[in-house]
Amino acid sequence: MSVLNIRIIGDPVLRKMSEEITTVDSEIIQLAQDMIETMHNANGLGLAANQVGVAKRLVVLNLKDIGAGKKDMVLINPEVVYSEGSDVQEEGCLSIPGLYTKLERPYYVEVEAQELKLPKGTLKKIRIKAEDLYARALLHEIDHINGILFVDRLDDIKRRVLLAKWKREHPEYA
Ligand code: ZN
Repeated sequence: MSVLNIRIIGDPVLRKMSEEITTVDSEIIQLAQDMIETMHNANGLGLAANQVGVAKRLVVLNLKDIGAGKKDMVLINPEVVYSEGSDVQEEGCLSIPGLYTKLERPYYVEVEAQELKLPKGTLKKIRIKAEDLYARALLHEIDHINGILFVDRLDDIKRRVLLAKWKREHPEYA
């Protein structure tokens, strides 16, 4: 396993509509394992494949830190099939390090996906029912594979002000 380079806002791969995965081969399994290591190395709750430069519909979630389980979870082609309610919480992203802001999202979601079980690489079709932080993490990562960053969901003025301030404070990412 290896820690991969996390792409920062401004990198075009973060804006890509990621491709559906039709075959799970050794390359996908390796990618999932490396993404898990990369996520833990960065103390993240989740990571999407395009955040490490691969525009495919694969996300990993740190269920332990989310408070929704013990293990890491790997989802292939996840899709939000239902959402309900509203919740405002602070959110951040490994691709915009150090920027945190309150964001409204649904409180409850249902997500369909193929769960990839490691290290074997077996697949299981699942329907996840999630609330609170777990729902937020799923929505955040699924946004990523659709080319959407969490700041895109803020209103225009707030986004511009926050990003301008973030760029001033983080010249290393310019
Ligand atoms: Zn993110």
